[in-house]
Amino acid sequence: MKPLPVYETFYSWQGEGCHMGKSAFFIRLFGCPIKCPWCDSAGTWHPDFVPETIERISVEALVAQAKEHNPAIVVITGGEPCIHDLTELTHALQEADLTVNLETAGAYPIRGSFDWITLSPKEWKHPLNENLALAHEFKVIVDKPETIEFWETTLGDQLSKRPVWLNPEWSQRADPLILRTINSAVKKGQHDYRAGYQLHKLFAVDEEDSRSKPTTQLRLSPSDT
Ligand code: SF4
Repeated sequence: MKPLPVYETFYSWQGEGCHMGKSAFFIRLFGCPIKCPWCDSAGTWHPDFVPETIERISVEALVAQAKEHNPAIVVITGGEPCIHDLTELTHALQEADLTVNLETAGAYPIRGSFDWITLSPKEWKHPLNENLALAHEFKVIVDKPETIEFWETTLGDQLSKRPVWLNPEWSQRADPLILRTINSAVKKGQHDYRAGYQLHKLFAVDEEDSRSKPTTQLRLSPSDT
């Protein structure tokens, strides 16, 4: 089986969305062409942060690493994991009786078998319709007051019937305007809106595994990348 370019793997718990609080083994893959200006995983793609050597790890080794911890879920994330064909990895994880969750912007075809898909739409490359239909939950990163309305207009009814988490963009998590915008949307209830957060960051749980790398957070405009 073809090895995959891996930025980091570590054992922690899921700090976001419907699976918040569950033990989780994270597989963070390299590469993302979307280039969000506030990306907090810039080490997977930004030239200022990408490490000199990119490790390639076999599917067998990734499954063995995950299995060692017997996590409630395995989270495949990035970067944008769907720029890779995840068929072999996800089948192997499921054959090992592991539950496989995906975190994706949904802008590239999803190749693989997943028990749960979190789709976090990005304005710099919109999600594919076929992926919107597959998502079990949405995660909207609220980086400005207009963000929620933008996705209501852009995605319309496709946002319905599934939880839509509204997470403040991390560097603006104390911005009263951003927080009030989220409060208001949840209380208005046009969709199944839920106020979200990156709870794992408050607990600093990722850092407890020495394999996890420090957060690489951008505050740039996309034209700078
Ligand atoms: S936030 Fe996600 S989609 Fe955006 S640049 Fe970072 S890895 Fe890519």
